[in-house]
Amino acid sequence: MNRESRALESAINSQEITGLNLTITNKVLNNQRVTIEEAIHLYEHADLAFVGLLANHIREQKHGDFTYFNRNFHIEPTNICVFTCKFCSYSRLLKHADEGWVLSKEQMLDIIRAYKDKPVTEVHVVGGVHPKLTLEFFCDLFKSIKELRPDLHIKAFTAVEYEYMFRKAKVSIEEGLKIMMEAGLDSIPGGGAEIFDETLRNEICGDKATTAQWLEIHETAHKLGLKSNCTILYGHIETYAQRVDHLNRLRELQDRTGGFNTFIPLKFRNQDNEMSDVPETSVIEDLKNYAISRIFLDNIPHLKAYWPMIGRSTAQLSLSFGVDDIDGTIDDTTKIYSMAGSEEQVPQLTTQQLVELISNVGRHPIERDTLYGVVTDYKDYDFTQDENPNGFIELPIIN
Ligand code: SF4
Repeated sequence: MNRESRALESAINSQEITGLNLTITNKVLNNQRVTIEEAIHLYEHADLAFVGLLANHIREQKHGDFTYFNRNFHIEPTNICVFTCKFCSYSRLLKHADEGWVLSKEQMLDIIRAYKDKPVTEVHVVGGVHPKLTLEFFCDLFKSIKELRPDLHIKAFTAVEYEYMFRKAKVSIEEGLKIMMEAGLDSIPGGGAEIFDETLRNEICGDKATTAQWLEIHETAHKLGLKSNCTILYGHIETYAQRVDHLNRLRELQDRTGGFNTFIPLKFRNQDNEMSDVPETSVIEDLKNYAISRIFLDNIPHLKAYWPMIGRSTAQLSLSFGVDDIDGTIDDTTKIYSMAGSEEQVPQLTTQQLVELISNVGRHPIERDTLYGVVTDYKDYDFTQDENPNGFIELPIIN
């Protein structure tokens, strides 16, 4: 029995927890699933300390103190996009291409070459939906990446990017994914899910892949043996019921396939987009959202706080609210959240800094690969043995 379960049982015995909170507590202690109504109740009425206790209990039952990270970098081929999501601060339409970027194949391979002999395990490829970057182009890129670094795991493209790419190439989802896998695709990130409620999705990002298409692409990927992640864009104009509906559709898909590794709540940021008048959520709301996600999504193994989005301090706090993963070193290779006004304008951490961020709040740092195989246990790691413990990679200057 961990600290939280003792605290919860003592609170039950002293009748501090009553009503629906008591029902939910008993369910959590007995590994039973909470309902949609119960999750909405937690959002609307429960306090942060209570959901934190429940979520930390679940987190420690699943993972103990282990806190995962990986050594990764991003390639963002372009921020030119055919879509016009109202919350997006990152993309530019083709007619404003001078304000954006498009990397050539060689420029992307130069980024891969910059990591030669470096112990990174994953390249994360994601960006805007450029009308002229085709399935064929990216297959060719993936093959070349694998020639340079066969050991590098390619996690690439959101379901939104696939939906467009496959439609243009006139192939089915299954055919398209098989072609990508053949070229080197290893897994799929969770972006593009935004919010599944169809009316709201239509209002804030109506021109891109629908909810049904997003879910179908992930379900098909899982059936083909690919693992993927999943996300929600929260804290804009959605209701709590719409948030829980989103979580529930993920939970149902996971019941069918078991293919999601990690759930990543993505916080709406309001800088330089069409929803700048919508205020951002507080840290309290962010932590509560992590906790309730952990409580509700009983069948998704990992919960990730993406530190470039919420900042290092909140990422540390989140480790007591259900989170067991804080993503990777990243090396300042993504602009998606810095362009939206996140705290981390230059998102890069050395491995030592990431390890310290985790151990300074009493957790046990584990470097993982993309699929959660343990790469290095950093509990008592001696960084003085490393050749360049504080060094960042010198990336090629592009543009
Ligand atoms: S969120 Fe993605 S799909 Fe939407 S406009 Fe931005 S880059 Fe394009």
